[in-house]
Amino acid sequence: MRRWRSILISLSFLSIILFSACSHANDDLIVNIDQQEITVTRDMYHEIEAGVNIADEKDYDLPLEYLFYQNGVKVVDSVDIIQDEAITTYAWKEIAENIYWRNVSQIEIDGQLYTIDQLNVHRGGFGFAVEHSITDVAVLTAEALGISFGDKNSGFVLSSMPVDHVVWFFLDGFGYEQFQYAEQEGILPNLSMAGDFYPSYSIYPPKTSTVTAALLSGLDSTQNGVWVSGIRSLNVPSIIAAVKDSGQKVLIIEGSSTPFNYPNAEIVLSGDRDGDGSTDDNVFNHAQEAFQAGIPSLTMVHFHGIDDVGHTYGPYSEEWRVKVKEIDQMMGQLLQELPASTLAVIFPDHGMHNVIGDSELGNHGNLILDDMGIYIILHNK
Ligand SMILES: [Zn+2]
Ligand SMILES: [Zn+2]
Repeated sequence: MRRWRSILISLSFLSIILFSACSHANDDLIVNIDQQEITVTRDMYHEIEAGVNIADEKDYDLPLEYLFYQNGVKVVDSVDIIQDEAITTYAWKEIAENIYWRNVSQIEIDGQLYTIDQLNVHRGGFGFAVEHSITDVAVLTAEALGISFGDKNSGFVLSSMPVDHVVWFFLDGFGYEQFQYAEQEGILPNLSMAGDFYPSYSIYPPKTSTVTAALLSGLDSTQNGVWVSGIRSLNVPSIIAAVKDSGQKVLIIEGSSTPFNYPNAEIVLSGDRDGDGSTDDNVFNHAQEAFQAGIPSLTMVHFHGIDDVGHTYGPYSEEWRVKVKEIDQMMGQLLQELPASTLAVIFPDHGMHNVIGDSELGNHGNLILDDMGIYIILHNK
């Protein structure tokens, strides 16, 4: 009854406004991103779903974040959900893990289905201007080695170029927020002094394989087509191939497995040979050996432990702090042992946030600063 009365009142007093507001199809969804209005149609919904649900699963959970990221949002602060003129505001961090897109204007929050009229998205982020992204690393590497890759500029100004070697230290799951915390806690004596520190954004979804695709291609997921963890190969040029084409070599020192395919690279799988529950000490030993034996133009050293421990015990837990201290020690030593004429680039793929659950206490994959905020540290030797 109340609804009919309000519609009648609207019709008699606001017919023009009402007509213009109803000019879109019935089940379109109006999304307002910081005042910029987008009409999401059924076709747009199906296009995003087809790109993301590559296995064509029946009860697939489509995160709304794909829609936000495609429209230029890197971090969501909050959303207003508007339904029958009622507005409900949610902090994105509180609902990001439990909100799914069920159809054009149908959204499920915490297991409850809502048909909504409009969604307002309020951006979040660092709160200060951040120019850099994980996609800059490939371009920077090409610039440092004096080879060509793509037509972009990394935006970094390096004191000595070209260099003989670039070494990537890939600190899995140790994002900007986690780095800041560890620095304040005094458990990062080496990494906090390691070089020039540039706050940066990761790409969506902030997961190891998708970020690795962005790292290697210098393109984000909307450009390189690697939208989901199930894709493990690039269909666009890779910095590894560019280094190889210039007659140089690439060495990748991994943990027990590779999160992505690295054609054209020599891969060292470290495994957990001593059975101590972590591959990091094995990765560390392999990196030391490689530095002594002589590294090629590009080397990647991938430490997985902070991410693994963060998933199990939660970021900021005591176990996590112990692991962070261990990686910091290893990094301090490796930076000292780098050969001359080397640019070291230290970065994580993504961060992590705490979750409440039985199986794990930490996770990542959302458009929140905990997951999307990263950094790039440059250390010249
Ligand atoms: Zn990762
Ligand atoms: Zn992870």
